[in-house]
Amino acid sequence: MSGNQARLQAVSQITNRISKSYSPTQPLSEIWACDVFNLSTMEDALSKSAFKEIKKTVQTGAPLDPATADVVASAMKEWATKKGVKFFSHIFYPMTNITAEKHDGFIVTNSDGNAITEFTGSLLIKGEPDGSSFPNGSLRMTNAARGYTAWDPTSPAFVMNTANGSTLMIPSVFMSWKGEALDKKIPLLRSNAAMDKAASKVLSLMGETDIAPLNSSCGAEQEYFLVDENFANSRPDLLLAGRTLFGAASAKGQQFDDHYFGAIPARVQVFMQDFEDKLYRLGIPAKTHHNEVAPGQFEIAPYFEAANVAADHQQLMMTTMKSTAKEHGFLCLLHEKPFAGINGSGKHVNWSVGNSTQGNLLDPGSTPHENLNFLLFCGAVIRGVHLYGPLLRAAIASAANDHRLGANEAPPAILSVYLGDQLESVFNDIKEGKLLEKASGGVMDLGLSQILKFERDPGDRNRTSPFAFTGNRFEFRAVGSSQSVSGPLVAMNTMLADSLNWIAEKLEATLASGSEKTEAVIIVLKELMELHGNVVFGGDGYSSEWHKAAVEERGLKNIPTTADALPAFKEESVIKLFENTGVLSPGELASRFEVYAEQYVQSIEVEAKLVVDMATTKIYPAAITYLSTLTKTAESLAGMGLEVDGLSIKSVATEASKMMSFVKQLSDAIEKHDFDTVEEHMTFCADTICGLMLEVRTHADALEGLIADELWPLPKYQEMLFIK
Ligand code: ADP
Ligand code: MG
Repeated sequence: MSGNQARLQAVSQITNRISKSYSPTQPLSEIWACDVFNLSTMEDALSKSAFKEIKKTVQTGAPLDPATADVVASAMKEWATKKGVKFFSHIFYPMTNITAEKHDGFIVTNSDGNAITEFTGSLLIKGEPDGSSFPNGSLRMTNAARGYTAWDPTSPAFVMNTANGSTLMIPSVFMSWKGEALDKKIPLLRSNAAMDKAASKVLSLMGETDIAPLNSSCGAEQEYFLVDENFANSRPDLLLAGRTLFGAASAKGQQFDDHYFGAIPARVQVFMQDFEDKLYRLGIPAKTHHNEVAPGQFEIAPYFEAANVAADHQQLMMTTMKSTAKEHGFLCLLHEKPFAGINGSGKHVNWSVGNSTQGNLLDPGSTPHENLNFLLFCGAVIRGVHLYGPLLRAAIASAANDHRLGANEAPPAILSVYLGDQLESVFNDIKEGKLLEKASGGVMDLGLSQILKFERDPGDRNRTSPFAFTGNRFEFRAVGSSQSVSGPLVAMNTMLADSLNWIAEKLEATLASGSEKTEAVIIVLKELMELHGNVVFGGDGYSSEWHKAAVEERGLKNIPTTADALPAFKEESVIKLFENTGVLSPGELASRFEVYAEQYVQSIEVEAKLVVDMATTKIYPAAITYLSTLTKTAESLAGMGLEVDGLSIKSVATEASKMMSFVKQLSDAIEKHDFDTVEEHMTFCADTICGLMLEVRTHADALEGLIADELWPLPKYQEMLFIK
């Protein structure tokens, strides 16, 4: 094999790697949640009365009295210290997509100089990190640093084991001194409460009397890439930006569909088992894993949980995934588009709402036309996506996700709802004021006696829809792989709360005017479908016809970039939505716009600087070296009177010079900072900077195809994707 020194060395390291094997010795029942201070741990550790109190708080969100908090704190410390833990930390979720933690020791010394451990209810309930360096979007003045973290008892504490020790982690919210939400958990909890309130109203109008608190649920499918770290370490773009900013396509990509659901490579399988055992210890129910479409791409999905816990677990999963991959010599890439020309990674957020008395309200059962509660909740989602599509788009906007959306591998940047054949026809009837029985999927009969017959689903799947009904839940498929699921969940819960409030109001008036229940539901849903039915679409979301029809005939918005999407946070209707539901004050919402806009600009600037740097210091020198060899050879050939291949020389020289001319334009563009508004700056990034980065890349990738392999300084796509 040829290649420059660094690449050859990487290949040899990988080839000679001593392969790890993984032989789990402990059964699931022994490791499951063994590092979690959950209800069953508490039942053993607490008095009956204290346990009853905390259980009520965990299950219903009821307030906890300080005396019980003291008892819980003490039991938590006992449990953790027995595991050798000496430090605790409130773990919180700032407005970045990662977590934050500040560790404190249990240690105190007494007057004799002896060390004892202490952990009181007040230490458990509240922490006060100097939070001045977290993004706050002008919610705080530069000189104001005080921030509080506060224990969220509804998400269980756990012990995080790393090579550097073990720490008791306490899931927490994070707020400013004035009490404004500086994190992703507070809005999520508030959005759930708003949904609960509105849903209870609708259910009681429907005659339900026993209504338990409603909760949203989330099961997130996580896609990711694994690249051997020997390659990754020679790619500053992968290390710093999480994606390749250069790289010509490999001759073989995903065209044979041979990776999807293929046999998992042995080394990856070992990583997965190790990683999943770690998740089990943390009480995270890892459920499925498989090869994804692109070479080097995989997926893991845990079983769904209450949204708040699922969101915390999702963050923990991403952290554990990256650290375990490192132990196995991989760099785990959660970026939405690490490699051009092959699929990127998403995070499908499966979402439903329900409670212990009415069950899952998005489960139609076998006769959806008779399930009035279901029809109302499903209708509420339809209205929500229609009214707040741009908000949903903004909730998943990032520089990285822009590379995926609408790129014919991921859902388009137009928000529509897929219902499936049976349900779509139920809602079409409702639009006409009817409610008729619909054919179910029927029985699958292949005519092969050895294959047992089974009940077919009432609708096919639609993989091109950004927001699809999948039997008993909606699947928001446009979410990016590196993103926190909180933002999308907040948007979904809040739009649902708003729609359910609208439905409750209409339903109450219709019932009051003498309509019987079924009739009232049809009247309300008929109006809803007339106003919002346009958002329901069952066809091919990738097609150009849809892109045209969605915008021109249906009035839906196509929002390709983050620069176009984030201003949705400033729309009057969105400000009112969050204010009326109590999820985010106008100030808190404005801060989100500011933080996300800044993150967008900064991540593009980092990439642009890397492009300039790598093109100038790695690619151009390789081109020049090759060019000098070519010209010397040409001179000797000419000296011998032989024919000279001027074409190669010309191609290399031209591509190198064009590349450098765009590098110059790009470095000038990075210097520009005189923008009147952040919107203007974002648009400049989206149009000018991204455009120039692509120009540099085009010429660099052309050079990769021209220059001798042994001179090429960066690991190539075929190496990173196929050598494991
Ligand atoms: P697929 O790839 O077929 O869509 P997966 O099994 O990979 O499905 O993932 C589906 C996800 O949806 C899982 O996390 C699963 O637990 C979750 N899920 C299933 N039912 C619900 C529900 N009612 N509410 C929320 N999530 C759900
Ligand atoms: Mg799915």
